[in-house]
Amino acid sequence: MARGIDTRCLHLEEEEGENNNYGALSYPIYQTATYAHPGVGQSTGYDYSRLQNPTREHLEKIVATLENGTDALALSSGMAAIALMMELFCPGDHLIVDADLYGGSIRLFHNISEKNGITFSSIDCCQEDVECYINEHTKAVYIETPTNPMMNVTDIEALSRITKKHNLLLIVDNTFLSPYFQNPLDLGADIVVHSGTKFLGGHNDTLAGFLVTNREDISEHFRFFIKTTGAGLAPFDSWLILRGIKTLGIRMERAQKNAVSIAEWLSRQKAVTRVIYPGLPTHLGHEIMKRQARGFGAMITFQVESRAFALAVLEKVRMIRFAESLGGVETLITYPVTQTHVDVPEDIRERNGITQSTLRLSVGIEDEKDLIEELERVFQATEEELHG
Ligand SMILES: *Cc1c(COP(=O)(O)O)cnc(C)c1O
Repeated sequence: MARGIDTRCLHLEEEEGENNNYGALSYPIYQTATYAHPGVGQSTGYDYSRLQNPTREHLEKIVATLENGTDALALSSGMAAIALMMELFCPGDHLIVDADLYGGSIRLFHNISEKNGITFSSIDCCQEDVECYINEHTKAVYIETPTNPMMNVTDIEALSRITKKHNLLLIVDNTFLSPYFQNPLDLGADIVVHSGTKFLGGHNDTLAGFLVTNREDISEHFRFFIKTTGAGLAPFDSWLILRGIKTLGIRMERAQKNAVSIAEWLSRQKAVTRVIYPGLPTHLGHEIMKRQARGFGAMITFQVESRAFALAVLEKVRMIRFAESLGGVETLITYPVTQTHVDVPEDIRERNGITQSTLRLSVGIEDEKDLIEELERVFQATEEELHG
């Protein structure tokens, strides 16, 4: 029987019993660029840290087990991971991608991958018939579920039946739920992408990214790419992410509990016109999430009555910080139109439903009552300011 995910966040079975480095519980930081060879034609298994580093490798093994993959690569950021993944494709290849995605992924696809001869169909993967967009050059389907920031939910298993039938890769950015709540490889995905900066790291202090797969051919390509292009995660950053992952389970549970309360609180506010949280039974993807995930996460997107209201909320928050990013222990509020999605053309933004009155919360692990109190204060002051 495989061990539970909380245990797998802490322990690698294969390392147990090894008399490793004085019995240190914390995995050592191998801050070295290179490794001495025992003799000519011999190697310790480590030659140069762009190729292998023990600290990074330990992290990669942990992340691979969390996603039920056979291999994981740790990169210097989520975008470095996605950029490396794009090396799988050649000029002339076509990808079907979710229309609502993290803004950086949209920027990468449209400003860099297109220049390299790759074409894209951006569609609403949870509503439209993906099969209609497949042509002879199509190589992959790329999704987030739930999406950033509109929280659209796609049925991964149903989509994987289509990608398998047409021999396409299914790539899932699993950042919003983390492996604690969802494992896309188990549902038929071929590659899982993570911004490790977010829930995996969990402390808003380190950038990291991951590619995870259970396909040996893809893993071989990835290993060649990382050796050649060199964006592997640094040893100290690998250690910080390892430390963050140790508490992944309890952080996710606590943040989710807070998020449920906040989503319910927001739903009761007059100034809030829409709350988009998959944990609410009214969310379109609620039933799919119940089937394919073990939780709903800690990300909430909501619409307020006006742009002025949204801006006033951002001005008034104190403990909740007005900042980009997500998935850390501190609660953050984001304004997608000027932050995460500023480079997405306005027409696409509007089609996706991101407006001047859209706000996104990444709920942290503070005391629930303090978070609600802060929101109450902010909303009340905003009402008074705008409506007297
Ligand atoms: C943040 C984010 C990324 C990019 O990751 P970085 O670590 O910031 O480079 C990719 N996908 C999603 C869903 C994200 O939220």
